Amino acid sequence: MDMKRILVTGGAGFVGSHLCERLVEAGHEVLCVDNYYTGSRRNVAHLLANPNFELLRHDVTFPLFAEVDEIYNLACPASPIHYQFDPVQTTKTSVHGAINMLGLAKRRKAKIFQASTSEVYGDPTIHPQVEEYWGNVNPIGIRSCYDEGKRCAETLFFDYHRQHKLQIKVARIFNTYGPRMHPNDGRVVSNFIMQALRGEPITLYGEGLQTRSFCYVDDLVEGFIRLMATGDEITGPINLGNPGEFTIKALAEMVVAQTGSKSTITYQPLPSDDPKQRQPDISKARALLDDWQPTIALEQGLARTIAYFDGLLKSGAA
Ligand code: NAD
Ligand code: UDP
Ligand code: UDP
Repeated sequence: MDMKRILVTGGAGFVGSHLCERLVEAGHEVLCVDNYYTGSRRNVAHLLANPNFELLRHDVTFPLFAEVDEIYNLACPASPIHYQFDPVQTTKTSVHGAINMLGLAKRRKAKIFQASTSEVYGDPTIHPQVEEYWGNVNPIGIRSCYDEGKRCAETLFFDYHRQHKLQIKVARIFNTYGPRMHPNDGRVVSNFIMQALRGEPITLYGEGLQTRSFCYVDDLVEGFIRLMATGDEITGPINLGNPGEFTIKALAEMVVAQTGSKSTITYQPLPSDDPKQRQPDISKARALLDDWQPTIALEQGLARTIAYFDGLLKSGAA
């Protein structure tokens, strides 16, 4: 195997930490860059003893000079409560962060991967979502810092590709969950599991009839690795997610059943611009990424995630 020097921005976050682990296990040198905005050193503590792993506290909105062969750009808070906490910083992270990482890739002639999102489709009017769909995004709403920041990052990736011949790989990631999500992350899977384990009411927003499609983190990371390994002609955007679609109410009921919790459901107002439905069409990923498709069903992935959060609670870490 070809040993590479690989930069992972946002590497101390939920998805990033799993990616770093995979890359180090495969024998690569990994430089993990993170400002710990939503991630933490704890997520990568188990990698610190490995001489091929290096951790750097750095904010990607500032230039970074590092000698690497490949870049995975994941830096960006992903949970609505976190990306809405400091929306200006969220847009800066997506846009200035992309410019800096693309500048780095250009200087190094490094291949660069962008963690884009299903949020580029906004509140979609076509279902399931295909990559050709341009989306239905409110440019001035409370989700816009994230949605438009990620859309602008995609624009920058494609312009660096056309103008500077950069090798780019853009993945549009759909809701992903698993161990190392922050217990206070605010996203639905971590919220529901923590509430169920603590016997607190499950906070269902709206009537819970909105849908999402949940992908287990290991399946997603496998998709990242396969996309990065494709030939120069493959740029994406490529949807990566699990097509299994569930209402949020059904998710709440699954979590309660699987945890054996006595929690009841409490209804809270639906946040504005909350997409009503979301399901990836993954035909492109299957065709271009050696028949990539998720292998871990929601029930199975939830069991692993519940075990993780249960461990955190029992050890006093959450
Ligand atoms: P996360 O919040 O756990 O991870 C994001 C990481 O980026 C954190 O470690 C955070 O500290 C770091 N970060 C934020 N701003 C930074 C900055 N300015 N400089 C350096 N580091 C910074 O979220 P995640 O779920 O692991 O998401 C990872 C990436 O995948 C994000 O880009 C997100 O938009 C994208 N994504 C995730 C999902 C999902 O469901 N998990 C879905 C779509 C897209
Ligand atoms: N950049 C970086 N690391 C590098 C090379 C560039 O962070 O190794 C930053 C640089 O500071 C610049 C951005 O990336 O702001 C875009 O670089 P590019 O070369 O595209 O543009 P220019 O430097 O001409 O503005
Ligand atoms: N949601 C909910 N209760 C919560 C957190 C989220 O009902 O405690 C809903 C939220 O309104 C949305 C869905 O679950 O419809 C997914 O929310 P999340 O924040 O995980 O991701 P996103 O909206 O970005 O897909």
